Amino acid sequence: MFIEPGIAGDNRGWIEVICGSMFSGKTEELIRRLRRVQIANRKVELFKPEVDVRYDAANIVSHNSSTMQGIPVNNSQNILLLAQEADVIGIDEAQFFDSEIVNVCQTLANKGIRVIVAGLDMDFMGRPFGPMPQLMAIADYVTKLHAICVQCGHIASLSFRKTTENSQFVLGESDKYEPRCRKCYMEGMREQEELAKLSSKNSF
Ligand code: ZN
Repeated sequence: MFIEPGIAGDNRGWIEVICGSMFSGKTEELIRRLRRVQIANRKVELFKPEVDVRYDAANIVSHNSSTMQGIPVNNSQNILLLAQEADVIGIDEAQFFDSEIVNVCQTLANKGIRVIVAGLDMDFMGRPFGPMPQLMAIADYVTKLHAICVQCGHIASLSFRKTTENSQFVLGESDKYEPRCRKCYMEGMREQEELAKLSSKNSF
């Protein structure tokens, strides 16, 4: 388990990144760390991209329903404007933010603020997702969480999309995604390819 080097920035800022696949417990871990800050009576602000409207516009809700009040922002720069008084800043679903989020996190940390960022490291194709690689590079601490492969029970690091939608941004939960290990992920991708070939043949 991650033991924080300090509870709040105290003019010594730093950046923590919590990454992993879907259903790996990233938001739970983010909320766990932020709750400890609140217990210490330090001021916390939590942000998320406006695009993530899966459950609730203002609350950040993890899959197991632990919640914390969060502010939806449509632009990473707004975090700088809204984060004025905070000792610790949390940012959820960071993969959906613009690339400027990297500078925003640096600016906050350099001002002495502790910044905790959670996000998907890879998209459904296994590609690095949005600004996450840059955020992981500049972070002082990186925690990579793993889910359990629903096919075989091994450790899962990939988010397999069960539908055939091709866009990188398809919001969904267990209706559309499942965590898989590399082996089961590759098997699933091959199956989808075969099905796509069959259906294109049948359409002629
Ligand atoms: Zn598996």
